[in-house]
Amino acid sequence: MKTSLKLFMLMKNRILKYNLKSFRNFSTYLLYSLVFLTIVFSCKNDTSSNGKLNVVTTTTMITDLVKNIGGDNINIEGLMGSGVDPHLYKASEGDVTKLVNADVIFYNGLHLEGKLVEVFEKMGSQTKTPIALGEVLDKNTLIGSDYFASNYDPHVWFDINYFKQFAQKVTQVLSEKNPENAENYKANETSYINKLDALQLKLKRIIETLPKEKRILVTAHDAFNYFGKAYDFEVIGLQGLSTATEAGVQDVQKLSAFIIEKKIKAIFVESSVPKRTIEALQAAVKSKGHDVIIGGTLYSDALGTTGTTEGTYIGMFEYNVNTIVNALK
Ligand SMILES: [Zn+2]
Repeated sequence: MKTSLKLFMLMKNRILKYNLKSFRNFSTYLLYSLVFLTIVFSCKNDTSSNGKLNVVTTTTMITDLVKNIGGDNINIEGLMGSGVDPHLYKASEGDVTKLVNADVIFYNGLHLEGKLVEVFEKMGSQTKTPIALGEVLDKNTLIGSDYFASNYDPHVWFDINYFKQFAQKVTQVLSEKNPENAENYKANETSYINKLDALQLKLKRIIETLPKEKRILVTAHDAFNYFGKAYDFEVIGLQGLSTATEAGVQDVQKLSAFIIEKKIKAIFVESSVPKRTIEALQAAVKSKGHDVIIGGTLYSDALGTTGTTEGTYIGMFEYNVNTIVNALK
């Protein structure tokens, strides 16, 4: 609403300045009318909340989680879509409007959404403080990192136990904001955590089929450290923890030598990171007279397309594990 008002004032001042004669042709007039209509339309949307909580989320993992807990009792807007890299994501004008109109905002935190931090800090001074789900986790158990201002690796959703703690926090916050539906939120949480328990058992069984010495996971960037810790994989990301820094020629050469030495069969592309770095790594291995295949595309910092199995956290996790185990066997 505030953004729309600002735009409206800007347009009004412009028109006053130019007076009617300066509208030299019909197309200019039409353009101004369209802008006005857009503003009026967006103002109308801002207030239509159908009595439900307006929840805004950042990453696709968090959007999926909050949908599972909130169900039909909330309106939800996820800012980031499938294939979007949260490290590089910047808030658009439209996002700011959504954030301003939200009753609750959930984000990963731990500096994952590096370029949104400033927007959230400004919002923090208002009544609705955005909720950084990463902050609920016991810092002593997190993997440290110098790459992030938080000093922790933020890719915590790859430990299902942490994701369960996210679910509990989401339930608590929604219940506080909307006590009438607290029982529904609690029931949804219980049902979702049961599904996560089942997922953990299933993944354990799949991973046990891969011998320990073959559990080396090479991907485009270091998103899988928590996965590695949970399932006893050695994990190497070509780009370091954040995609904000590109991999250098030296990294590619060093890693290609490692792949040959360890006889690693497959390396993996990630859906939210450009393919070229992993392809360069594959070419470097080839130039040394060896072969490594691209074992598939993993979903790391974003889920698959909405409406598909990989578009859910549970579906994504199972897909990743099957892809990894099948390619490395
Ligand atoms: Zn990442």
